[in-house]
Amino acid sequence: MTGIDATDYPAARTVEDFTHNLRAVNARIEAALQRAGRSPGEVRLLPVSKTVDEDRLRLAVAAGCTMFGENKVQEAMRKWRNLSDLDVRWSVIGHLQTNKAKDVAEFATEFQALDNLRAAAALDRRLQAVGRQLDVYVQVNTSGEESKYGLGPDDVIAFLKTLPAYTALRVRGLMTIAVFSSDADRVRECFRLLRALRDEARDLDLVGPGELSMGMSGDYELAIAEGSTCVRVGQAIFGARATPDSHYWPGS
Ligand SMILES: *Cc1c(COP(=O)(O)O)cnc(C)c1O
Repeated sequence: MTGIDATDYPAARTVEDFTHNLRAVNARIEAALQRAGRSPGEVRLLPVSKTVDEDRLRLAVAAGCTMFGENKVQEAMRKWRNLSDLDVRWSVIGHLQTNKAKDVAEFATEFQALDNLRAAAALDRRLQAVGRQLDVYVQVNTSGEESKYGLGPDDVIAFLKTLPAYTALRVRGLMTIAVFSSDADRVRECFRLLRALRDEARDLDLVGPGELSMGMSGDYELAIAEGSTCVRVGQAIFGARATPDSHYWPGS
């Protein structure tokens, strides 16, 4: 993660801690936008709450969070249930097994890891059944690492062309996870590739507003320099995670 040591992320345990961390991340986002010559507010911060328990999520909501990103459907659904008294929305940002499409259709407002037709068809069917729509991002594997999910860059345009058939899916943009590397040039290449694909897809009117979900705790400023419109930030807000990355990206 571009040279950032997990010990740089102390755990947030009070509303004040969350307020402080959110302010710090937002200030860095705005500074990165300014350095890139972009307008203030052009980037949405999606707090990623995986492994964080509901008690601490309540503190984060008190500090102003209104949406959380979760990698695993079961964990997300449990939190959705346990926090149903609060006004929060849920974004699923991890790989979807088709048998979980029904759950996602029930509680999520956004799904950022769409990368295959079976998942698109299953989600659409389940959404139609409950009369809901879902904002989706198509995940692209820009690093070429097998451990990362997502479509190969060469398959993205053809995949996007099939999505209008699934009328409950609202295509918002593309998502990627960059290579985990301290070499900024390699990380930047991933972001540039996603942006180029987005430009191509947008010219063909295949990707709605053409949002770019890219950037995590270790690389979100670099992602903003390369055009990100949504950064998915966990550890810099909640504190370092004990769970190893291989739990989310097998083999990484
Ligand atoms: C965990 C996760 C993030 C956030 O990573 P941090 O290092 O906690 O900022 C972003 N995107 C996805 C898909 C994730 O699973």
